[in-house]
Amino acid sequence: MTSIRLGLVGVGKIARDQHLPSIAATAGIELVATASRSAGADGVASYRSLGEMLAGTELDAVALCTPPQVRHGMALEALEAGKHVLLEKPPGATLSEIDDLVAASGKTGVTLFATWHSRFSAATEPARRWLEGRTVERAEIVWKEDVRRWHPGQDWIWEPGGLGVFDPGINALSIATRILPEPFFLTGGELDTPENRQAPIAARLAFTDRNGLDLTADFDWRQKGPQTWDITAETSDGGRLHLSEGGKRLVIDGETVVTSEDAEYRDIYEHFVRLVREHRSDVDVSPLRHVADAFMLGRRCRTEPFHDDENAA
Ligand code: NAP
Repeated sequence: MTSIRLGLVGVGKIARDQHLPSIAATAGIELVATASRSAGADGVASYRSLGEMLAGTELDAVALCTPPQVRHGMALEALEAGKHVLLEKPPGATLSEIDDLVAASGKTGVTLFATWHSRFSAATEPARRWLEGRTVERAEIVWKEDVRRWHPGQDWIWEPGGLGVFDPGINALSIATRILPEPFFLTGGELDTPENRQAPIAARLAFTDRNGLDLTADFDWRQKGPQTWDITAETSDGGRLHLSEGGKRLVIDGETVVTSEDAEYRDIYEHFVRLVREHRSDVDVSPLRHVADAFMLGRRCRTEPFHDDENAA
């Protein structure tokens, strides 16, 4: 079977850290070009825009690693050119623009894959299987990291559509929406937004479901030292699940059942190859819907200004 010829757009942090090595390590797909204004990748054609790349190189698929605010226009251009499209998370800046992409991919009959990398963590599927058929009474998400460490100098995350602390928080929500047995919904929240920014630096959210689940989420981008990416769940039969390290580790009733190295993006590209071969798409907007709900229902709290340089006044 011939390899999928892939063009990647937006050679930034996640493209370099994860996409390029994962594509190289995945059978059935090969990188043939990049489109980025200020960077490229060794050994492949490099263009400054998606349009130039589509005109200059024969491609089957495009991976978009740009910020969400510019995703829709690029995805539409690629879909209308008949290319399969892989979207980094979050799949877009609004829910409606993703509906538009789903319609566009249906029209040209190509694959659209809205990735949620945390769903490919080693613990997610075992956690889902264990919780299936159980009633979850209480669950807690604590997702705290240092924005300066993970997003150095990135301005887009603080702009409208950049999501602020929901950029990592949505990873937790992508796991929770996958593993919790019932759909849940927001009942209230608080969003701490720095005076000089458009997007929150911290958020505290409360959710429930039709059975009265008590689910809280605590997102914070000001965490120094060890980083925290934890989800715990307690079930009505007395069981307790603890997923930590963003999904690399899973402890059930005190026993470690998963502990693994990160292979999320390898699995993402294997799944993409499968989707293309089987003429399928995979688009689930539920994590983004919870974030949209938080912006709709959450109480705004102004906090002190945020500067990339900690010593700046
Ligand atoms: P980044 O380092 O800022 O890279 C994004 C790249 O997109 C830039 O280097 C830029 O390359 C290109 N770009 C095109 N239009 C742009 C615009 N209007 N503003 C800024 N850049 C633009 O961001 P990233 O951390 O890789 O994140 C990209 C996406 O991956 C986000 O949706 C993020 O949520 C997701 N993600 C990030 C991480 C992480 O650890 N950072 C982890 C998982 C997922 P040129 O200037 O060369 O065009």
